[in-house]
Amino acid sequence: MINKIHSLGGYIHEYQKSVANPQAFWAQQGESFFWRKRWDKVVDWNFDEPKIQWYVNGKLNITENIFERNLYTHGSQEAIIWEPNNPDEESRTLTYSELFVEVNKFANTLRRLGVGKGDRVAIYMPMVPELAIALLACARIGAIHSVVFAGFSANALKERINDAAAKVLLTADGGFRGDKITPLKQIADEALTNCSSIETVVVLKRTKSDIEMVVGRDIWWHKAVDGQSEVCPAEEMDSEDPLFILYTSGSTGKPKGIVHTTGGYMVYSGYTFSNVFQYHAGDVYFCTADIGWITGHTYIVYGPLLAGAKTLMFEGVPTWPDAGRFWDIVSKYQVNQFYTAPTAIRALLAKGNEFVEGKKLSSLKVLGTVGEPINEEAWHWYHDHVGRNQCPIVDTWWQTETGGVMVSPIAGITPTKPSFATLPLPGVQPVIVSNEGKELTGNSVEGNLCIKYPWPGMARTIWGDHERFRQTYFSSYSKMYFTGDGVKRDEDGYYRILGRVDDVINVSGHRLGTAEIENAINEHPLVNESAVVGYPHAIKGQGIYAFVACGELSTGGEDGIRKSIMQGVTKIIGPIARPDLVQLVPGLPKTRSGKIMRRILRKVAEGDATNLGDISTLLDEDVVEQIIDGALVDV
Ligand code: ATP
Ligand code: MG
Repeated sequence: MINKIHSLGGYIHEYQKSVANPQAFWAQQGESFFWRKRWDKVVDWNFDEPKIQWYVNGKLNITENIFERNLYTHGSQEAIIWEPNNPDEESRTLTYSELFVEVNKFANTLRRLGVGKGDRVAIYMPMVPELAIALLACARIGAIHSVVFAGFSANALKERINDAAAKVLLTADGGFRGDKITPLKQIADEALTNCSSIETVVVLKRTKSDIEMVVGRDIWWHKAVDGQSEVCPAEEMDSEDPLFILYTSGSTGKPKGIVHTTGGYMVYSGYTFSNVFQYHAGDVYFCTADIGWITGHTYIVYGPLLAGAKTLMFEGVPTWPDAGRFWDIVSKYQVNQFYTAPTAIRALLAKGNEFVEGKKLSSLKVLGTVGEPINEEAWHWYHDHVGRNQCPIVDTWWQTETGGVMVSPIAGITPTKPSFATLPLPGVQPVIVSNEGKELTGNSVEGNLCIKYPWPGMARTIWGDHERFRQTYFSSYSKMYFTGDGVKRDEDGYYRILGRVDDVINVSGHRLGTAEIENAINEHPLVNESAVVGYPHAIKGQGIYAFVACGELSTGGEDGIRKSIMQGVTKIIGPIARPDLVQLVPGLPKTRSGKIMRRILRKVAEGDATNLGDISTLLDEDVVEQIIDGALVDV
């Protein structure tokens, strides 16, 4: 089984080993998996082309590591526990043996549809077990899955299908989300009017919505699977054969088809899952992400299943039927590890404590967060109210491109500090680099977060555009992977993510991270969420424009609130960080993965809302219009 860290001393020891001899360290981690043929060389790399290969010439299939490797010991244990959108509908569980049968049957279905090794399969599905089955079935036969989050528009789906030239699309008649139904098939039909590569559409019946089936192109999932053999020999894959393509959420522009390969991703997802969350056999683990994002790929599907864990999949949303839904699920299944995003925590915090108080949360051992910097107020609420002061919070920093967690506490082992991702995992060599490309050593430094040595889970390329891959990640600083994020290493050597470097605001020569200012604004009792951006300022170079979403506006009216927000920031950070403009807004523009799109707010603050760039990943266009209407500058 996967090598586990048990103590702080153990972590330090493993970390030192991993830096002194990365090859030996990763060879040891690789040993805990099943390879049809062992690798010749652990890593072969340069960051100039860039070329990154791990477990070179190793042969394997990741699903053999999930099923054949786990079945003897875990066959009758739950693999997937599925909680439907509607709490009145029956839940489903699939043991490892049952899941294996379903995966094999669907893998055979795909083969019969002419899908083979290297073919791309686009997946546009709700959070139901068949979605996980689809990923694993692709992996079983060596097809490359490309999951498109089921909240994306027809246009966004079309772009992604065409970019990958997918042969088959897997979708459903519809998807339940709270009290709404997303007409997935209808959206897919619209997308497919312009997708020549798609030969077949397989449609899962979920909402029983009235849909049209295109003769010769569309087939029902249950009919296609019917009669397929329960045995499907796994395709032998090279370590460096692509496992999947996943488009990044697009907070910063045109989506990139990030490519992950088989061997390295397997080792990295398994290793990081077991260690970060300190999963123990029998625990129930619940990650609230959607499988449409990397968090769902690595920490709902691959990581947990490689570890033989029980992974809980939830179809619905955190606020329906009410804001206690997550806590009801935790209590229903006695969840031990719970992993969510700051956007969800802030939303639930704003709804008030009555939804969490009185819920049976005593099974919880570990809480996790990912996706954005978590502000201190949200951290404390999570820690005190959800974790009852007893659960370590793992603030996990990572990216679609990194495949798995990079900087994070090891649950219960690394001492935590609110809003700090703390320390790098073994095998991860972060460096802080100045804008001039100089490595800043020692503690109490701040700059651009880069990684100077490859790790097995890192992306290998952007689908169809290796040059863009090189440009985006390897050209800013020589011989380093540039993450795009700003970071601070404090006096204890702990890492705190400051937000995206593009978002850093430069006021009179002082560089201010958006996360820090927002953190201070969010301390205000009436504030639910905020986003700050820079805008051209005649004297200071850049001024600070804050967009603030409040609950209700009580005493003092709008002006009073603006003023007290400004005063609060002055008190917490200092006058330098005091926002020049504070606009109270009904909500913030977010990506469909729940992240604030500062790019759009920057445009508004610059007084130019005519060209907002690619907004295909924007969740709610109305919010943007309301923000433009209420802008404090001429737009
Ligand atoms: P795009 O790259 O297309 O703009 P994205 O960066 O939002 O989209 P992801 O790969 O899902 O897509 O997100 C990774 C980013 O999320 C990180 O680079 C970082 O900015 C932010 N992030 C993730 N986890 C954390 C965390 N624990 N603390 C702070 N920031 C985080
Ligand atoms: Mg990114």
